[in-house]
Amino acid sequence: MPAKDRKIAFMGFRSVGKSSLIIQYVENQFVDSYDPTIENTFAKHTKVGGQEYNLLVVDTAGQDEYSVIPQSYFININGYVLVYSVNSQKSFDVVKHVYNKIIDMKGRMTVPIVLVGNKKDLRIERVISEEEGKHLAESWKVPFLEASAKENSSVKDIFDTVLNTIKQKENGETPE
Ligand code: GDP
Ligand code: MG
Repeated sequence: MPAKDRKIAFMGFRSVGKSSLIIQYVENQFVDSYDPTIENTFAKHTKVGGQEYNLLVVDTAGQDEYSVIPQSYFININGYVLVYSVNSQKSFDVVKHVYNKIIDMKGRMTVPIVLVGNKKDLRIERVISEEEGKHLAESWKVPFLEASAKENSSVKDIFDTVLNTIKQKENGETPE
């Protein structure tokens, strides 16, 4: 089977760890300060479930509750990773706004999305419980993971999950 081309976008409030998750996955390192304004696309070759992928990962500069999402984030994107951080209520609110914007554009049943609660290593600062994240994802009928870019926990899972979700949608499988 030839490698499939896939392009995914990371979205969510600023400072939730979008760039850190991507760089941990692509470069196997945790960068402590990465310019938050950079919009970059990263490439990685990977294999999931026997299928090879040429993966492009779009790292967005971040959204807030008022953001109008640029058209470029809707064109040629196969799937979305929506990230909040477990120590930020604001980021949890913003992820709902971003979800609604994507659904308005793409339609609920067709768009592959994975919800990620990052910074799970920040145990004391946590304000969003794992249950809350899980409930939100269930209401959207999308996969949910908690992760830590810092501890490299569940980072590869995010990418495997979004690629599998894209594949399921293409095959017309519904998660319900
Ligand atoms: P972005 O704006 O969403 O791209 O966020 P960044 O990746 O730039 O991360 C923002 C800040 O959070 C940086 O200081 C990171 O070092 C830190 N950070 C990112 N991921 C984690 C994590 O999993 N745990 C902790 N404790 N800090 C993190
Ligand atoms: Mg960033």
